[in-house]
Amino acid sequence: MTSTTDAIRHIRLSSVTLPLHTAISDAKVFTGRQKPMTEVVFLFAEITSEQGFEGVGFSYSKRAGGPAQYAHAKEVAAHAIGEDPNDIGKLYTKLLWAGASVGRSGVATQALAAIDVALWDMKAKRAGLPLAKLLGAHRDAVRTYNTSGGFLHASVEEITARADEVLAAGVGGIKIKVGLPDSAEDIRRVTAVREHLGEDVALMVDANQQWDRTTALRMGRRLEEFNLVWIEEPVDAYDAEGHAALADALDTPIATGEMLASVAEHERLIATGACDIIQPDAPRVGGITQFLRLAAFADQAGLDLAPHFAMEIHLHLAAAYPRETWVEHFDWLDPLFNERLEISEGRMHVPDRPGLGLTFSEQSRAWTTDAVEFGTP
Ligand SMILES: [Mg+2]
Repeated sequence: MTSTTDAIRHIRLSSVTLPLHTAISDAKVFTGRQKPMTEVVFLFAEITSEQGFEGVGFSYSKRAGGPAQYAHAKEVAAHAIGEDPNDIGKLYTKLLWAGASVGRSGVATQALAAIDVALWDMKAKRAGLPLAKLLGAHRDAVRTYNTSGGFLHASVEEITARADEVLAAGVGGIKIKVGLPDSAEDIRRVTAVREHLGEDVALMVDANQQWDRTTALRMGRRLEEFNLVWIEEPVDAYDAEGHAALADALDTPIATGEMLASVAEHERLIATGACDIIQPDAPRVGGITQFLRLAAFADQAGLDLAPHFAMEIHLHLAAAYPRETWVEHFDWLDPLFNERLEISEGRMHVPDRPGLGLTFSEQSRAWTTDAVEFGTP
């Protein structure tokens, strides 16, 4: 007698390059550390079981790392063939050990994330439930704010025009980028956007790690008057103590965590009191299995949660967090999927479709640069 209920029959991995309409610049470009971003590279995983269930998942990388994620997933994916797709924790551990010599963070686990997300998608589909419901949702709709309209390559006029559009479409807040080498220009832009939006619209700023501790404290004090929902990544992503000092000194909440690449790295943020709002990214920390561990630690520490990017996955995870959350509205990924997420009255609604509620579009197939298959179709 065995409790095994199904077996993974087939896995398809593909590398997909999503072109962006405009070259994107945040503060890292203005400080000379990175080039403007023109594309995002995705690792897609599509898994089929002997009983005919299907799961889809993805991981992603910006500027570099896409080929490495794809290569690592290719090396370990075959170890999942024949395993019960319901045993997600066991499978994660098995694939982790298959690539143990490259470690338990970063690219090594981001490659596993695509497979892990696909397994959760399949499990929710098998149950006939949206993923948020399978996990145990606290709400059916999550507050959402837009980021894609507020980058530093955009003028204040472009930012406010786009903000008007997304707010009219039901989005509940606006985040704009700061961290320019000229801090006075940052203040001018925030002042203009706050004046345009009025006091009642939720507004956040994101310095993308480009302030040193002194500048962050000075800017944080100058920004207090704007009643921001949070200041994001004011200092280096790995400077937990620097974040913690700011969180102590300022009334405005501090948000951070998107750049961290494992649960262990997030544990350090949590342990040092580095933020009021934690911003994990499921593909970056190794998938949903790892995100759920991290979310349990964050909730225990009393933190709020605002996951980074990938709203298509994070909507479900934010809905299942005990405290009121935010998801980040980016329209960039829309062309990859056939479905659109419903937004109204400041919230993004968990779809009633089972699993993530996503299918990959024909356009995403056209942007596929390489693919590999394991098992029997
Ligand atoms: Mg950010």
